[in-house]
Amino acid sequence: MHAARQDDWPAWLASARAWLVELAEEGVERVEIASESTAPAAIEIGSAAPSLFEPAPAWSGEATLESVRAELGDCKRCRLCEERTQIVFGDGNPRAELMFVGEGPGAEEDRTGLPFVGRAGELLTAMIEKGLGIPRRDVYICNIVKCRPPGNRTPLADEARTCGVFLDGQIAAVRPKVIVALGKPATSLLLGRDVAITRMRGTWQDYKGIPLMPTLHPAFVLRQYTEENRRAVWSDLRAALARVRESAS
Ligand code: URA
Repeated sequence: MHAARQDDWPAWLASARAWLVELAEEGVERVEIASESTAPAAIEIGSAAPSLFEPAPAWSGEATLESVRAELGDCKRCRLCEERTQIVFGDGNPRAELMFVGEGPGAEEDRTGLPFVGRAGELLTAMIEKGLGIPRRDVYICNIVKCRPPGNRTPLADEARTCGVFLDGQIAAVRPKVIVALGKPATSLLLGRDVAITRMRGTWQDYKGIPLMPTLHPAFVLRQYTEENRRAVWSDLRAALARVRESAS
């Protein structure tokens, strides 16, 4: 790495900070640093992530996607409504056996009204279609919050909790055989406690009797595009599909 010029320091520190916050949000707790010019060192990151600890309230109405969408209406229940272009409810087969839950819409999703259609969405779609060999329209995809958080920040605990009841309604409506939770916020909300995604991924969990597979978020994989991360997600998705197929036989 080249030494940063003195007047570059503020930008360099801001990007280092953003990187550490991102790692913390994904539940990474320690990073080993090695370079030619410095002795090996490690940064303990700790948990700077906002807590999504509390479980969201359960859906209590009629459980169809239409009724959940109707109840959501032109939602103004939290501050995320202020900057959204439109609500991004969900996409895919209402009777899907495999359901993916992400974090929240990004810019492209906010523009189109569809979840996972930006860069992270392209990676997710490729993993579903080319990797697992199933058309995207056969699975169901949604997020823990239905409106784009400003600047693509992680949803705050109260936003996730307020919107979580609609996610619970979507899960009750679709009744998938397996849920894949993409990243730390989705996994934490669904399990009702803060998790370290890098440790929990790949291990079976349970959401109200439905097997839940936590994995790394595709946006995280794009930013940390290592063989290890790609293999991890690939192995988790294959395990999820195998479980769907087992439960069908
Ligand atoms: N797009 C989504 O719809 N959700 C995410 O979590 C990220 C990108």
